[in-house]
Amino acid sequence: MKIILATGNKGKIKEFKNLLPDDEVIAFSELLGDMEIIEDANTFQGNAVIKAQTIYKKLNDENVVVISDDSGISVPTLNGEPGIYSARYAGVDATDKDNLHKLIDELNKKDLQQTPAFYTACIAIVYQDQTYTVHGWMHGKVINKEMGDQGFGYDPMFIPNGFDKTLGELSQDIKKEFSHRSAALKLALRVLKVIL
Ligand code: IMP
Repeated sequence: MKIILATGNKGKIKEFKNLLPDDEVIAFSELLGDMEIIEDANTFQGNAVIKAQTIYKKLNDENVVVISDDSGISVPTLNGEPGIYSARYAGVDATDKDNLHKLIDELNKKDLQQTPAFYTACIAIVYQDQTYTVHGWMHGKVINKEMGDQGFGYDPMFIPNGFDKTLGELSQDIKKEFSHRSAALKLALRVLKVIL
């Protein structure tokens, strides 16, 4: 199956290619070049739909399958921050490292060495002018340190439930087994089976 990914995030592109080894996964930028998409919805689902529909309309080919992922990490003791603002927590041009350091700073401000946290991923699928969405979650905790360099984003400070190491220290194969993105993708594949 040929799937166009409506994301420019290199970490996500790598994970989707790894999660869909039997499919042709193409980042939209390979077809359309770089493009800024304004994600101004106030939910993961709203932003995932904006991304997938924008790329689907630009491609103007009703036989392509466009998939987007809007995701982030939420920390209940910080009122759910950064949540949908995960990619721009430290500012609009922030890097993954800037955002991770900002979250560590926020934990330190509250004297928290660790606190529960969870990742959410919403995947939107657009095919033949119809839009479908599914969600996946991964629960665990964040710590006020960065450990390891696997994964991307907040992974070096996130310890999944059942482990004592961060996703920065654990292998990508372990993350693949139970990540929010894998959980959402499993549901997305069930949707694709029905609609294609
Ligand atoms: P989006 O591209 O607007 O959906 O922003 C997603 C942001 O959430 C990324 O920039 C990361 O900061 C964070 N994020 C989402 N999924 C993951 C993950 O699997 N690991 C680490 N950070 C993630």
